[in-house]
Amino acid sequence: MKVTEHIKNASKTLFSIEVLPPLKGQTINSIFETMDELMPFNPAFVDVTYHRQEVVYREVEKGLMKRHAVRKRPGTVGICASLMNRFNIDTVPHIICGGFSKDETEDALIDLNFVGIDNVLVLRGDPEKGAGIFKPEPDGHAYASDLISQVVELNKGNYLDQELKDTSKSNFCIGVAGYPEKHFEAPNLKTDLKYLKKKVDLGAEYIVTQLFYDNKKYFEFVDNCRAAGIDVPIIPGLKPITSHKQLSVVPHYFHVNLPDRLVDEIEECKTNEQARQAGVRWCIQQSLELIEAGVPVLHFYSMGKAQSIKEIAQEVFGS
Ligand code: FAD
Repeated sequence: MKVTEHIKNASKTLFSIEVLPPLKGQTINSIFETMDELMPFNPAFVDVTYHRQEVVYREVEKGLMKRHAVRKRPGTVGICASLMNRFNIDTVPHIICGGFSKDETEDALIDLNFVGIDNVLVLRGDPEKGAGIFKPEPDGHAYASDLISQVVELNKGNYLDQELKDTSKSNFCIGVAGYPEKHFEAPNLKTDLKYLKKKVDLGAEYIVTQLFYDNKKYFEFVDNCRAAGIDVPIIPGLKPITSHKQLSVVPHYFHVNLPDRLVDEIEECKTNEQARQAGVRWCIQQSLELIEAGVPVLHFYSMGKAQSIKEIAQEVFGS
């Protein structure tokens, strides 16, 4: 079922999660274990992230380095199929522009369609590590909005090869990312909202937000979106702080601000376990306030760690 149908049919705030493919060489069991922990809280759908190739340099002889392209977390399509079979749950694979030509994207969408997946979260992807700015593939997309147009065309049965006759249509429900504290490359929130609106005008049916720790930022973002004419559901994305180290890692990777009180509370903790528990308490408060405000879904970034999400779900969605 499509994410938008889940939202339409729901009488209360839904629970959903995002999982990461395991590192290459590991089994899928870590994802099954995460799902085993979280299935009792009836997630409506599970997102599976996509990870582009990275370039690494490895020493082949003393002082001689060789360039390798490695995809550290492959398996998004297979994981989606596996989760659908094993847990009978709807999956939302992420698809990105980075590292993909339009033809490769089309083939990936055909795979997803054949597997029976009818949701995609359409993203640009981050710049390659060390590259600074995002560079599209020579025959790839520069922005998520361009990739949306390709999915929309496939939904109409329009493939890249225009010679194809009597083509079948895909039926993907398209989600996109939104940034309550603005995307880090955008000059300001207004410009970022202009492009977010473009994504919706082109066919995005819902928005999932970047994680945030101050609900005020989410509420203001929703108000700004509505004022800009963006009227699709806006799903808040949450990730509890799980250690002292995350006080610097989270702002670095996700370009978000941490409220003073949260930082004080984590800093006062003597151990990482206490910090994790403080992160869980903060996220529970955020969740309860968001539910009170009537958000359609609470979407949790699990980052391969189910324990904190389980404790939050127990408090927020447990009967
Ligand atoms: P876009 O919407 O293309 O925007 C990128 C930037 O360009 C923004 O600053 C925007 O304002 C600007 N912009 C947009 N359109 C135009 C235009 N036409 N002209 C000029 N400027 C424009 N990354 C992964 O690699 N894999 C994942 O699985 C993944 N999952 C994610 C899930 C969520 C919910 C979120 C919030 C992020 C995720 N990311 C993932 C990270 C994401 O790829 C990065 O944040 C990326 O830098 C931007 O992606 P986007 O789709 O928001 O890009």
